[in-house]
Amino acid sequence: MALIVHKYGGTSMGSTERIRNVAKRVAKWHRAGHQMVVVPSAMSGETNRLLGLAKELQPAKADDAVLRELDMLASTGEQVSVGLLALALQAEGVPAVSYAGWQVPVHTNSAYTKARIDSIEDQRVRKDLAAGKVVVITGFQGVDETGNITTLGRGGSDTSAVAVAAAMKAAECLIYTDVDGVYTTDPRVVPEARRLSTVSFEEMLEMASMGSKVLQIRSVEFAGKYQVPLRVLSSFTPWDIPIAEEAASGTLITFEEDEKMEQAVVSGIAFNRDEAKISILGVPDRPGIAYQILGAVADANIEVDVIIQNVSHEGKTDFSFTVHRNDYARTVDVLKTKVAASLGTDRIEGDTKICKVSIVGIGMRSHVGIASKMFRALSEEGINIQMISTSEIKTSVVIDEKYMELAVRALHRAFDLDQPAA
Ligand code: ADP
Ligand code: ASP
Ligand code: MG
Repeated sequence: MALIVHKYGGTSMGSTERIRNVAKRVAKWHRAGHQMVVVPSAMSGETNRLLGLAKELQPAKADDAVLRELDMLASTGEQVSVGLLALALQAEGVPAVSYAGWQVPVHTNSAYTKARIDSIEDQRVRKDLAAGKVVVITGFQGVDETGNITTLGRGGSDTSAVAVAAAMKAAECLIYTDVDGVYTTDPRVVPEARRLSTVSFEEMLEMASMGSKVLQIRSVEFAGKYQVPLRVLSSFTPWDIPIAEEAASGTLITFEEDEKMEQAVVSGIAFNRDEAKISILGVPDRPGIAYQILGAVADANIEVDVIIQNVSHEGKTDFSFTVHRNDYARTVDVLKTKVAASLGTDRIEGDTKICKVSIVGIGMRSHVGIASKMFRALSEEGINIQMISTSEIKTSVVIDEKYMELAVRALHRAFDLDQPAA
């Protein structure tokens, strides 16, 4: 008997029929003697619907007062889900109780719409488990020091589940979703993508941070920090398959580099369309310029990703970087109002039609020529690279958004990812 955390995503919770299926699956685990904590997301489309309503009424502003209400609103999607799932479990004859984040409580900081979990109190949940109940906890939400409801960023239910598993020292956290594991790339974009039976924690971290939305990056960070055994698997298998078979399916995130993984130089390809590029042309090439530009951006609490500074000509250079698309307008505004005058240039150019494509693999540490193979594959497709950034186990390029799928497919082929692993 073990304490197990299940997380079910929006599609898996998408209708009462699917919720009934989730309840039957959880009931199966409960009857097998496990202590079960379940963390569901809002029903598919619900968070978008709620945020869409908000936009109709308050399209422009994004100050703290507005963000607080967005969290108040968006968190309700998960509250509906926990209530429905607890009812469905009770209908299956399983004692179940649901909690919102503030009832557990899941303590977070006050960064509305992207709050971070500080701690989770487990007494209440443990008491229910000891009484033989299944405990259903909202994903995505928490409560700050002063009692305000917060949310954890899009896809945040993954993080809720892993954080609950870490706090409760669960034996395993199973992330049930609408694909049957982590693939070499998004199987909806490349049909030839293959499921990985294992992926190392470091690779998963890079893939998530480079845009593979199958797991929210913070959930992977939590899993790493607290060594939570984590598995991604399908919620669409028949609910009554044997537990042993289910527990061995999908993709396991591993913390040790086994030999098989060493063999695959590139394990996966990630991409994202969430960034925008900003260039400041003709800035003086002297010490302190990068700080002057990016310091002002950081002061506005805007995260910067890829950065490029060109070689200078006659003491002037161009400086480019990317930010999240949601922060694009604000960044341009900061540059125009706080930076341009002191740099002596107002030539600020932006491009929101870019994407970032990354190859990820721990094998890249010990192999040379991987980046050049990537660049060759892109050049053979006539795709121009605008920016490059690398780390020990990944290489990313920024390219025109319209070539994204072409680039991902070409790289998937070039690195033989559609071939079964040796
Ligand atoms: P959930 O609602 O269950 O949280 P998400 O939509 O957040 O599901 O994540 C699952 C989706 O992630 C899949 O449907 C797939 O399109 C996408 N995805 C992106 N990259 C990958 C990958 N490398 N492997 C598997 N799925 C991926
Ligand atoms: N419902 C939230 C979202 O759509 C959280 C999640 O699904 O993980 O982003
Ligand atoms: Mg998700």
